[in-house]
Amino acid sequence: MTNDTSLERYSRQMRFYGIGEAGQRRLLDSHVTLCGCGALGTVLANALVRAGVGHLRLIDRDFIETNNLQRQVLFDEHDVAENLPKAEAAARKLGAINSGVHVEPVVTDIDRTNILDLVKDADLVLDGTDNFEIRYLINDAAVNLGKPWVYGGCIGSHGQTMTILPGETPCLRCVFEAAPAPGEAGTCETAGVLSPIVNIVASYQAAEAFKILTGRRDQINCDLVYIDVWENVHKRIKIARLFGTVDCPCCQRRRFEWLDGEQGTHTTSLCGRNAVQVAHRAVTQLNFEEMARHLETHGAVSYNRFLLKFDADGYQFTVFPDGRAIIKGTDDVDKARTLYAKYVGH
Ligand SMILES: [Zn+2]
Repeated sequence: MTNDTSLERYSRQMRFYGIGEAGQRRLLDSHVTLCGCGALGTVLANALVRAGVGHLRLIDRDFIETNNLQRQVLFDEHDVAENLPKAEAAARKLGAINSGVHVEPVVTDIDRTNILDLVKDADLVLDGTDNFEIRYLINDAAVNLGKPWVYGGCIGSHGQTMTILPGETPCLRCVFEAAPAPGEAGTCETAGVLSPIVNIVASYQAAEAFKILTGRRDQINCDLVYIDVWENVHKRIKIARLFGTVDCPCCQRRRFEWLDGEQGTHTTSLCGRNAVQVAHRAVTQLNFEEMARHLETHGAVSYNRFLLKFDADGYQFTVFPDGRAIIKGTDDVDKARTLYAKYVGH
């Protein structure tokens, strides 16, 4: 088949008629931005890195907790004990799985100020988030730049996915014009989530990624796929005809409301987990050593070069070097801002 020994690890994939050696070389030359490295994100990253996607940018704002391990396949108890951010821990594991590709961890909150930079050099954007706000932002950025992207979402025992080729297929807003109101959609905390549905949805997304990256857009799935592994439902919802027939603010009128900041906030309650993220970008990197000295009067402080943790007033604070913080113990955004000002400063 090939004399190139560097491709030997991909031999079973190249033997598949849809990929071949030419497809494999295209995968190796590909650049993917993966937004979110939680349940869907870890399954996606695992599939892409094993398949030989040459450059994977892995973006996640969060750190690892014990209750992630049930479904987030790249993490283990050691990562929890080490207080590692998800993107960093995933990149370490992926480097051991395939040292022949480049994995670039980015620990940041995706927002309208950074998303274009994070996706502009990518051939494809993948949605591994659990957050509608970020999905609409991805949709705006992808349509704006003409990048294909694959949406995926899971809750409880059900999940759905669709593939968006800007200018060819309906975008997210053609199908779901607005994000569900807070509290309207379930969250992982209220409804839970089963690992089988995560694996299924992410696997659909990964297969779509392979088709797009190997130049087989003719093979993509043009429907919205909905699966419920507990209720035994598998539906394909025909959405292709929506392209160009709905008056979509994003892909038809090219109004990018999420990118322009007309929609969305910076301080957000996190996926119903009784925590708030306060996104405050410091001009320079925070000095954790100095912060720890000040905070020690309130109680135990621990830090590494990725994050600093402390407890105060009965709340758990996790602070990142860019000034962003996740405050656990409240879902009240104003309360979180007050706590942030009191303990983190600025
Ligand atoms: Zn649209």
